[in-house]
Amino acid sequence: MKIAVIGGGIFGLTIAPVLAKEGFSVDVYEKEDDVFKMASGINQFRLHRGYHYPRSTDTINECLSGEVKFRKFYPEVVIDEPHEHYYAIAKEDSLFSAEQCFKVWSECGLKYEITDLDILNKDSIEKCVKVREAIIDPVKFKAACLERCKRYGVNIILGKKVSYEDLHEYDMVVSATYANSNIPLKAFPEAQENYQFELIEKLVLDLPEKFRNMSVVIQDGPFTCIDPYGESGLSLMGNVTHAIHHRNIGKVPEIPEQYRELLNNGIIKNPKITKVSSFLKDAEKFFPGIRDGAKHIGSMFTIRTVLPYREHDDARPTTIREINDRLISVFSGKIPTCVEAAEQVLRIVKSKQERKSTTIGIIGMGKWGKALLRVFDKLSEVKVCVNKDDVSNQEFIRKHYPKIRTSFDYDDILNDDSIDAVVIATPIKTHFEIAKKFIKKGKAVFLEKPLAENLRDAKELIDISKGKFLFVGHTFLYSPGYKMIKELVLDDPVVEIETTWNKMGTFKEDIFLNLVSHDLSIVSGLLEKSPTGVELTKNESVISKSDRVSIDLKFDSGETCKINIDRTSPQKRKEVKVKTVSGKVYYWIDNKIMKLDRENKRFDILFDSEKEPLREEVKEFLENLRNNQEPIVNKNIALNVMKILERIE
Ligand SMILES: Cc1cc2nc3c(=O)[nH]c(=O)nc-3n(C[C@H](O)[C@H](O)[C@H](O)COP(=O)(O)OP(=O)(O)OC[C@H]3O[C@@H](n4cnc5c(N)ncnc54)[C@H](O)[C@@H]3O)c2cc1C
Repeated sequence: MKIAVIGGGIFGLTIAPVLAKEGFSVDVYEKEDDVFKMASGINQFRLHRGYHYPRSTDTINECLSGEVKFRKFYPEVVIDEPHEHYYAIAKEDSLFSAEQCFKVWSECGLKYEITDLDILNKDSIEKCVKVREAIIDPVKFKAACLERCKRYGVNIILGKKVSYEDLHEYDMVVSATYANSNIPLKAFPEAQENYQFELIEKLVLDLPEKFRNMSVVIQDGPFTCIDPYGESGLSLMGNVTHAIHHRNIGKVPEIPEQYRELLNNGIIKNPKITKVSSFLKDAEKFFPGIRDGAKHIGSMFTIRTVLPYREHDDARPTTIREINDRLISVFSGKIPTCVEAAEQVLRIVKSKQERKSTTIGIIGMGKWGKALLRVFDKLSEVKVCVNKDDVSNQEFIRKHYPKIRTSFDYDDILNDDSIDAVVIATPIKTHFEIAKKFIKKGKAVFLEKPLAENLRDAKELIDISKGKFLFVGHTFLYSPGYKMIKELVLDDPVVEIETTWNKMGTFKEDIFLNLVSHDLSIVSGLLEKSPTGVELTKNESVISKSDRVSIDLKFDSGETCKINIDRTSPQKRKEVKVKTVSGKVYYWIDNKIMKLDRENKRFDILFDSEKEPLREEVKEFLENLRNNQEPIVNKNIALNVMKILERIE
């Protein structure tokens, strides 16, 4: 599997070797003439444990768990000694008091020791704590990333700006482009996010001896901080207010013309634009003597990118999004999360690789065939789609699924040995003939429900599929609502079921084979037995021969069941009412399960799910197939449905 990583920063260069180590062939594309030129080379290089983010426990937790993996992966880049690390809470204008910080830190397991730090102005500080934190060596970090890339054979292509559309030859694309996160997503406007972009100046200073080798953050608000700059003996100074020269919220950063030559260009000596005096004036309030003693070596300029409108908590999450089947977008919050992010990307890539290992052909490109294609395309590799005559369906496939072949002849699937399974979503009257050919040929079959047009043909399919793989698409059996009801009635069996299904259309197929078969699958699945009595109590014609039907089922152990379907209803609603031996009444409506509370005269929602039943069904089919597991329950229910249908007169 060939993977392209866009972005030669910390995240791209950590993800790339993690993937390459697992045997993937990985190319990194970096638009600049070197790696680490943007945020990864210009930041405060603090290996955060979370003290800086008392208003976002999520960020603290991400930093804490990230740090453990980071230290293991990059042991040589972490500088623990001899620096000391302090957080001092400002007396005025801090968004969190010392007490609030202490509470959150303690809850998150962050240890601290209240202390006096003699370089601080006591009048401006409420409390100061000493903590165990570390900084990162920027020089060693870049070298470590390059070394790991080399070790695992990652190919780094410099000076090449790319977008998703340029990378057709790759099976997967991972974008780790931080301030440019939306650029590789050009083709996916709906996936583009708004960010807050801040054009930042980072000061490099030679500080008086007493401020060196020391990391001190004044928080929690518009304050200053100093950190050692790796092992250079110099320091970095940040300032929440003065560091920001320009800010915008949107899809891409705005870069005023006068900053272009300064930006992402390393340390600029005597920059023509600088706020060094404001930085130092502000710092002087907390660090007496720093202004006069500091020597400005130069400034670095880059774009910091954060989530917009997060002033309330200043959260810095790292997010990993699957934009489509081939594209993963990584947005980095804090450096310590880079290894965890790489592992998460690896998990996604591996699961995609596994999914892609099952090859599928689909026959029938009607509305349902297209729904099946949408889901199968995400969970497996659809190679061919066959439909009868209709050229517009072929155009649809070419436009939306350019990698999938199209054909008018299902023999193109039947005779293709590279296809593992066929999905049959054709008119019901053709199910038997097509499925029989594929079962006999030894291909795994996903056959839309019902099994066949009549019981004789259904039985024959079941017979010939013994020891082979036949799965019938009774979608409702895979819906989370059904699964929940099944669990609820495990120790409290069902005594009564009533289903009501109102909708408009479709009228192409027989209502019993097409719609009643769905409700019969639910009843068969819940009761796991055959009825002794089957009676059609209502059969009204509105548009076609039968459009409003009711069927009563009776079972010899006393259970009863009523199925009501109206396919000429202006209202769309599907409801399944289930009563149990102990008298409990459940309603299953869409994906919700409600329970009647007689005492309080109300319904309580017991369960609600966002999961799509069709996706769950396809997942189960593929899982069964990959595990070589015959779907016995599915087949038994499908046959039982046919047996009941045959008895409806
Ligand atoms: C001022 C500042 C201070 C910070 N301080 C800290 C700190 O102390 N601790 C901490 O944990 N985090 C800190 N951060 C955050 C941290 O620096 C970032 O989270 C991290 O560096 C982002 O790494 P990255 O690889 O995602 O992005 P980047 O380093 O920006 O790398 C992305 C790369 O993608 C390339 N690229 C973009 N588009 C394309 C394209 N279309 N084709 C090819 N290449 C492309 C870019 O050229 C760039 O090299 C700070 C950030 C800033 C800006």
